[in-house]
Amino acid sequence: MSIDTRSKQLQSEGVDVVNFSVGEPDFDTPRHIKDAGIEAINKGETKYTPGSGTVDLRKAICAKLKRDNNLEYTPEQIVVSTGAKQSLYNAFMTILEPGDEVIVQAPYWVSYPEIIKLAQGVPVVVQTDDSNNFKLTPGMIEAKLTERTRAINLNSPSNPTGAVYTPRELQALAEFAVEHDLWVVTDEMYERLLYEGVQHVSIASFGPEIKQRTITINGMSKAYAMTGWRMGYSASEAAVAKAMADMQGHLTGCPNSISQRASVTALNADQATVEVMRQEFDKRRVFARDRLNAMPGVRCPNATGAFYLFPHVAPFFGKTIRGRKIRGADDLGLAILELANVALVPGTGFGAPDYLRISYATSLERIQTGLDRMAALLAEAE
Ligand code: PLP
Repeated sequence: MSIDTRSKQLQSEGVDVVNFSVGEPDFDTPRHIKDAGIEAINKGETKYTPGSGTVDLRKAICAKLKRDNNLEYTPEQIVVSTGAKQSLYNAFMTILEPGDEVIVQAPYWVSYPEIIKLAQGVPVVVQTDDSNNFKLTPGMIEAKLTERTRAINLNSPSNPTGAVYTPRELQALAEFAVEHDLWVVTDEMYERLLYEGVQHVSIASFGPEIKQRTITINGMSKAYAMTGWRMGYSASEAAVAKAMADMQGHLTGCPNSISQRASVTALNADQATVEVMRQEFDKRRVFARDRLNAMPGVRCPNATGAFYLFPHVAPFFGKTIRGRKIRGADDLGLAILELANVALVPGTGFGAPDYLRISYATSLERIQTGLDRMAALLAEAE
């Protein structure tokens, strides 16, 4: 947040800041999806909808889950929400009693621990790093199990690391969750943004036992460049879905009617726009990863999902850049912002203080400019 505030301040002073801190696609919502929203307004679809979403949208979500994820759900198992963020909150509110523990892998998306705490749960952080490809294993979870462990929180492809679990890794986690009677809350927001031919598999697809204890979270934000439309959803057992819908009914009433109509179109129409966006992200990913790895002191692990890179920068800690002592990722992030005018997010907020997060949701040209500036500055470290 402090980097963001400082970045905005610099921009308001007229400084040209290259922004690598964004968490949303830089592409516009595709035309046919926008048109569907406009049509919904013109047709008067501007009233309350059923609390868990329109039947049309929940049917479209069921068809998508079958087509892309090999998951069979019926509309009453789907709850559409105001962004995947609300779906996550609904999920943890529903499955947790006060004091229940949830296994959360670090580096984590910043909101997971906070949402769990809001639901009176206790996030139990399991540290991973690039030596184990930012992957959680059953052994690592086992070391943290207590009588209060209630759930495992998964996020593949990951924000902030871009790591993608293999089907085999997920199957091992599924077996572990079944064996230890744990819930799995899996956030699959970035499933459409995959590179190098890697495959996304939904953990719930490994059989009925894991499916009944899994809440799958997804949404429209990243795949369809629809962050502002606020559309997320969950798929779960019907009893869980009912509890989530009951709670949501008192929180937000129902999701936005116009966004729901646009989402039906997004899911049912030709998916070509997703592929165009994915290919563009891929070009940027390869360029940025290689450029970062060419900077002495920076180690950028390969990332095959989402639109983030997560370079390791600990060799700079303890050094000085233009008279500024770099004690950690926060100091480095601030130095890069103030001295090179490049905004990125220090790993500290993601529970990974040896790293920086770089979002490549900006043009290749801006990525080139930003990384050139960053390289020149880091070369001055002594
Ligand atoms: N999950 C992850 C991993 C995210 O990175 C984000 C947004 O940055 C979300 C969920 C939230 O998505 P939504 O816009 O649907 O609330």
